[in-house]
Amino acid sequence: MNTFEFHTPTTLDEAYRLLEAHGDDANIIAGGTGLVLFMKQRMVQPGHLVSLRSIPGLDSIRVEDGTAHIGAMCTMHQVETSPQLREVLPLLGETYRHVASVKIRNMATIGGGLSHGDPNQDPPPSLIALGASVVLSSGSGQRTVPLDEFFTDYFETDIHDGEIVTELEVPLPSPSSGGAFIKFLPRTADDYATVSAAAVVALEDGGRNCRDVRVALGSVATTPIRARKVEGAVRGRELTSSLIREASDLVQDEVDPLDDFRGSSGYKRQMAQVFARRALEAAVANISAVPA
Ligand SMILES: Cc1cc2nc3c(=O)[nH]c(=O)nc-3n(C[C@H](O)[C@H](O)[C@H](O)COP(=O)(O)OP(=O)(O)OC[C@H]3O[C@@H](n4cnc5c(N)ncnc54)[C@H](O)[C@@H]3O)c2cc1C
Repeated sequence: MNTFEFHTPTTLDEAYRLLEAHGDDANIIAGGTGLVLFMKQRMVQPGHLVSLRSIPGLDSIRVEDGTAHIGAMCTMHQVETSPQLREVLPLLGETYRHVASVKIRNMATIGGGLSHGDPNQDPPPSLIALGASVVLSSGSGQRTVPLDEFFTDYFETDIHDGEIVTELEVPLPSPSSGGAFIKFLPRTADDYATVSAAAVVALEDGGRNCRDVRVALGSVATTPIRARKVEGAVRGRELTSSLIREASDLVQDEVDPLDDFRGSSGYKRQMAQVFARRALEAAVANISAVPA
């Protein structure tokens, strides 16, 4: 690993100044679980690391006006075990508990995970299905980017130079909705997914028709993807088993999986269809008040 200077700013303004001063030679470090591996493999060799750990307030969770605001430096374990989030957004804890092992979840952060931009990670499909956004802050202001527009390519995101992910915003689902995340793990329990899928389904008031739906998948392309064709095929219609099956078939046109040691592209394409269907079925089963 190369030598580097480790900076521990205590305010966001100080962090912005360090990022500006050192430009391409600086990397933000949060939990370090992804970045340090990259540094050891010499895939990145920053001369300056800007740690976010000493900046107060970046690890808070608050639920306000129908939205959960989760600080970028919250650990994955913190989100997994938060009683406040379990109450209003059970899908979050259910998803984060699938990440690697508890040792990793105790170090890895929400913001670090999203900024890493790995298409095989677990949280993005659920967060996209929930309609979440990230808040990006810099010396020149703030902007909010929906997660389904945030991942731009393999390990690439829409974070501009000098920007820091400071918060994740997750809208609370409506009462007549349900969500599910499923991860296909044919190798070991702490592996990355071969394919993962998440769905959030909302029913029309008092009815069985689908008012809204979002479906997203991981490990099936160079970025996490939103399965808009699948969504379009079920939105506004009664969610029967045969409709869900037909709609899930459409995911095959939306994915472009990479061949790797977790499976061939063709195999992952087929698994994407199976897991899109199972995620939709599980989301419907999780709606607490489906009318008879
Ligand atoms: C052995 C192992 C197994 C794993 N398995 C899984 C798995 O199965 N599923 C899964 O989802 N994840 C898994 N992970 C975790 C994941 O791949 C990343 O390592 C982790 O999410 C990165 O979070 P971090 O806080 O440690 O980020 P860091 O490693 O600190 O940073 C990662 C990148 O994001 C940038 N960055 C960090 N924070 C910010 C910020 N706030 N704003 C802007 N840029 C920022 C850094 O500069 C760096 O480029 C695994 C990790 C390991 C080591």
